[in-house]
Parts: sequence; C-alpha cells; structure tokens
Amino acid sequence: MNEQKNPNIHCTVDQCRHNLCTEPFCTLDTVHIGTHETEPSVKECVDCNSFEKRCGAR
Ligand code: SF4
Repeated sequence: MNEQKNPNIHCTVDQCRHNLCTEPFCTLDTVHIGTHETEPSVKECVDCNSFEKRCGAR
C-alpha cells in the first residue's frame, strides 16, 4: 500500500487506518463527515464516518 498524504485533510486520529501517522493528515481523497446527534450544537457532536480502526490500535 502506497498511501499519500492529503494535505487538505488534517487529522490527528492515528488510531485510524487512514491516518498517515508520520504526519497528522488523512490519506483518503475525501472523507464522510456526519453526526450522531439530532441537533448538533458543539464539535463533539460531529464524527468522521470514514474512520476505520487500525489493526493493533487500542
Ligand atoms: S478517515 Fe477520518 S479519522 Fe481517519 S484519518 Fe481520515 S479524517 Fe482522520
């Protein structure tokens, strides 16, 4: 796998398999952002739905 940094998507979630890890960026071309709330009001209400747990991540 030859994953490239997407400089347009800054992300520090290195538990995600799509994170570059050596730098805080995503490697996907696009990500799907959503919410688990009916009326999101703060940033904690918003999720990256493209997250996938990295193998070996706790
Ligand atoms: S998919 Fe979402 S959580 Fe995973 S590295 Fe990309 S932006 Fe971060």
